[in-house]
Amino acid sequence: MKTKIYIRTFGCQMNAADSGVMRGILEDRGFEFSEKPEDAELVIFNSCSVRDHAENRMFSNLGLAMKKNPEAAFILAGCTAKRYGEELFKRFPRLGAVMAPSELFSIGDIAEKVMSGGRAAALEGGSYGFVSRRGGVSEFVVIQTGCDNYCSYCVVPFLRDAERYRPAEDILREAECLAASGTNEIVFLGQNVNSYRDEKTGGDFSDLLARAAKIDGIRRIRFLTSHPKDISGRLIAEFASNPKLARHLHLPVQSGSDSVLKAMNRKYGSGDYLKILEKLRESAPDIALTTDVIVGFPGETDSDFAQTLNLIRSAAFDGVYVFKYSPREGTASFSMKDDVRDEQKKERLSAALALAKELALKKREGWIGQKAETLFENDDVGHSSQNYLVFKKGAKAGDFGGVRIKAVSGFRLIAE
Ligand code: SAM
Ligand code: SF4
Repeated sequence: MKTKIYIRTFGCQMNAADSGVMRGILEDRGFEFSEKPEDAELVIFNSCSVRDHAENRMFSNLGLAMKKNPEAAFILAGCTAKRYGEELFKRFPRLGAVMAPSELFSIGDIAEKVMSGGRAAALEGGSYGFVSRRGGVSEFVVIQTGCDNYCSYCVVPFLRDAERYRPAEDILREAECLAASGTNEIVFLGQNVNSYRDEKTGGDFSDLLARAAKIDGIRRIRFLTSHPKDISGRLIAEFASNPKLARHLHLPVQSGSDSVLKAMNRKYGSGDYLKILEKLRESAPDIALTTDVIVGFPGETDSDFAQTLNLIRSAAFDGVYVFKYSPREGTASFSMKDDVRDEQKKERLSAALALAKELALKKREGWIGQKAETLFENDDVGHSSQNYLVFKKGAKAGDFGGVRIKAVSGFRLIAE
């Protein structure tokens, strides 16, 4: 009998991609996957540490999963495993292994060790490798790991090591494997994809996009995440010249106040940011733009927050993810006075979300009567080039093409 595994993923797309890679490696080793954690003999939690709320939620889910499945073995992978290391064996005596994100490719050996009753702590070292995997209609492909930006609020550089780039050859080979198994869309992933460099050819991120667009079967390419300080003129031009590049850019701004941006160590001002958006819209008038915003950063005044709302309005975003500042030990901002009261953070969160919703709905209503190029990842459900969720009754997974939008329901576009 083959061991059945269940992987539960918390946090960002990077973690979702890492879970996909772990699955590929474990399938190669002959493990099977179960749909429910209760049926699994080995449960892997792939954790997130970006905000304390995410971390606490993961810990309580882990305790619950252990109670519900008293026979199973458990592995904790991801950023929280790296952050607390072997301490976690005391808190969760049933944990068989803790594994840092950089040790992703050791999952096969670690799973075998844990299933034979051993214990493992893989917290330092490791390198990204190659796994030939099969995929669904849309799949993540990691191009860059780690981060060197040290935004003052963020734990990622401490938990995911220094920035490294995968060789273009490996990335393209992985995308070809996926395309051969039926994948139509690849989403290139990294904390900071715009700084991508291929050591062998010296090619940059735009070169990688142009090469990926030549792969048969790949109909659309997306990427995440971009840092405003690294957006190049070449990349902006790529939106005009590469028809496979989805018309969507997620460009986290974090704040509309220059003094807060400085304290966040973001290395751009609100004016620079708005100029980038202007150039992007010149290059691709139908591009959708989304962002991340943190409210309640130490020292954020009412006037700073008003500037954030003003920026959101002038940028006319298609979507804004708003986060309440969460102080994280070890980061530079942890030693700044967390002087915005929680009540105030909550009020700012609601105000930013309300504005984001108003803008997002307006943008979507503008699509009524228009044709939206859509790739259906599942029957009836897909995403337009602008990354809007699209519903079309009768559409089949893998269908791709323009669909006419007849209505908007919530944030979804409804096609004829
Ligand atoms: N690398 C990406 C970037 O440069 O924006 C995103 C990585 S981070 C995992 C995703 C988002 O979480 C960030 O854009 C930021 O808005 C938010 N975030 C990170 N640290 C945070 C903190 N300490 N408190 C609240 N939000 C945070
Ligand atoms: Fe964190 Fe900044 Fe790196 Fe994004 S760019 S992962 S926010 S340090």
